[in-house]
Amino acid sequence: MGTVEGDTRIYPDSENVFYNPRGKFVRDVFVILFTAYAERIGKNDLKFAEPFSATGIKGMRLAKEGHGFSNFILNDIDSSAVKSILRGVEENNLGGFEVYNLDVFSFLDKLKTLGRVDALDVDPFGSAAPYIQPSLRSVKDGGIVAFTFTDTPVLGTVHNDAMVKRYHIKSNKVYFLKELQARIAASFVISEGSAINLAAVPVFAHVFEHYVRVYFQVRASPSLSLELMEQFGFVYSSECGYASLENTAVCPYCGGHISTSGPVYTGNLFSKELIQAALKNSAMCKPCNKLFQTALQEIVLPYYYELSSLAKVLKKQVPSALKIVDILKGFGYESSPTSFSYSGVKSRAPVSVVKSTFYL
Ligand SMILES: [Zn+2]
Repeated sequence: MGTVEGDTRIYPDSENVFYNPRGKFVRDVFVILFTAYAERIGKNDLKFAEPFSATGIKGMRLAKEGHGFSNFILNDIDSSAVKSILRGVEENNLGGFEVYNLDVFSFLDKLKTLGRVDALDVDPFGSAAPYIQPSLRSVKDGGIVAFTFTDTPVLGTVHNDAMVKRYHIKSNKVYFLKELQARIAASFVISEGSAINLAAVPVFAHVFEHYVRVYFQVRASPSLSLELMEQFGFVYSSECGYASLENTAVCPYCGGHISTSGPVYTGNLFSKELIQAALKNSAMCKPCNKLFQTALQEIVLPYYYELSSLAKVLKKQVPSALKIVDILKGFGYESSPTSFSYSGVKSRAPVSVVKSTFYL
């Protein structure tokens, strides 16, 4: 009976207890990053909580495969999910678990009375947008929190009105879609935090299938929060592949229409220290290792050139991103691969120069 993921057996036996095996990669990344966080702060008695636990797979995997955590506070509003969690905890011989059967807001409120947690993972169906402020409030100063957004059609510029309504951001179709999705989610969390004087400092982000995952360190610092808000801006792009932070009426390369995306957080999304620590623990997960390796090199630029799209325009084969990065660096432009798309390139070079590298 049950299903095994990692070393953990779970019991998604009822129709009401959701488990998606395709999300394993997202959970691998989660276990590695939260463990890296514990290692970075050098503690082994950290408290983890999760308001939408479902089978409890994340908490249980963190307990089994991760390090640094001794207390796991899980919750689900559905009583069959709670049963499934309790069974998993018992069958996997896990200690330090507390399981609640509350609605999300009561649970997050309870965390404040129990004492704020060091680490929180908020993984609802759809958007995490309604839960940001109470979630940030239940994390200790310096703690880590991860949010999942699976409303990718809204984040994906398909439903523009819904995006304005939910995230206060406008955008048209862009080539750097995955990064834009991560930045829309990050921007929303940063703004919500700022409104209650909490700085949500981005430390990691990735987009996998319909999962948009953003990780933050929470800091009770109004000045830091202001610093983050000051890094909001717009990205201007055009169908020819042009992308820039500079406002322009028409595309300087093709004279075409300019699409404006924003306001979004344009600053750093990646804590190199955290990723460095994560990399050491990722030998068991090849795709995680590649993700961290790439994120470690990533330059701070809120867009990338999608080589597969440029190749289509130029009727050329898609070149290797690493090769193009090397050429652009050789030309003197700050450039890197990007963890958002392995066929994408981040570069301060204009699109005309990036296109020219296809002919070298
Ligand atoms: Zn253009």
